This record gives sequence, structure tokens and C-alpha cells, in this order.
Amino acid sequence: MEIFKEFTFESAHRLPYVPESHKCWRLHGHSFKVAIHLVGNLDYNTGWLRDFSNIKAIFKPLHERLDHNYLNDIPGLENPTSEVLAQWIWTELKPTLPELSAVRIYETCTSGCIYRGNIATCKSKQ
Ligand SMILES: [Zn+2]
Repeated sequence: MEIFKEFTFESAHRLPYVPESHKCWRLHGHSFKVAIHLVGNLDYNTGWLRDFSNIKAIFKPLHERLDHNYLNDIPGLENPTSEVLAQWIWTELKPTLPELSAVRIYETCTSGCIYRGNIATCKSKQ
């Protein structure tokens, strides 16, 4: 069973490692959408994998850090591509949401990424 909960947030960012001629080098903003996916077994007593309101409560501190903020100022998001953002959210949530199976980021309506975790990446950050 896989469930997901989607959130939106508005943030400013710029990508410091692209050439100055690249449009993403300049300060700009996005209406990001993020989907938090969880995999697990259905609890037949509740009929749930996890209460969606519980996922919302767990994501709330991250939402407050991301929404209407400049992503580059957040430690770990100095180069805030969608890929880096997905990994950052994964790392923040995984200890509290062990059934986390994917973090899906929409940077625009047509561009984004899906991160499903990577042991090597986690080890390299420790
Ligand atoms: Zn951008």
C-alpha cells in the first residue's frame, strides 16, 4: 500500500553554480509542490497506513522553514535545485517517517524530480 500527501509552498531561490547567463542564476521564485509518499501495510483496525493529518503535522516544521523563505539561506540548501531539495526533505523526514518511500518535487507544472532514497548518499552526508 502506498499513500501520499501533497503540500505547496512559495519560495525564492537562485542556483549559484550555473553560468551567470543562465536564467536560474538570477533570484526568482517558484510555487513548489511536494508530495510525501509512504509505503506500508494497511492497519485493518484503522483502515489506514497513517493518518493524513499526522503527516501534515510532521511536515509542518519543514513547511514553516521553506514557505516564503529564501531557500539558499537554509543550511543544506545552498544550491537549491529540485534534486537537492528532495534529498534534503527526505533526510529531514525519514527519522520521523520510517515508511517514507518517495519525495516528489514539482518546481513548475512541468518540471520536478522524485527521490526514493539512497543509502550511499545518506552515508556520504554523515
Ligand atoms: Zn528556480
